Amino acid sequence: MAADTTTTWRDRAPIMLQTDADPDGQPCATPVDRRWLWRLESALAISARSGSVLGDLSRDLSQYLNESCEHHWRVYDADPGDDIASHRQCLWCSFPEWKNADGSYSADVTA
Ligand SMILES: [Zn+2]
Repeated sequence: MAADTTTTWRDRAPIMLQTDADPDGQPCATPVDRRWLWRLESALAISARSGSVLGDLSRDLSQYLNESCEHHWRVYDADPGDDIASHRQCLWCSFPEWKNADGSYSADVTA
């Protein structure tokens, strides 16, 4: 089978690399280089065997990205009766912060 020479990475890229907006349509300032690193980390997490060279790279890249994440928050407002309280969660590293009574957010659950 011949290599695909009619398309570029831009044609094959997932939406996370094609837009400056998050899945909610809100502007997201995360640079494309950083988005590529998250894409690579995700692919390695699925496919790299633990203890292999790529597995070690996956572990280290994941730690680096999580330690240095510049969070892009997605807000989840709970409705009455919801099992999960209102919070915001980082689009990239999934770190959550919980909404306080005064409207601010913190990593500690106060409710
Ligand atoms: Zn983050």
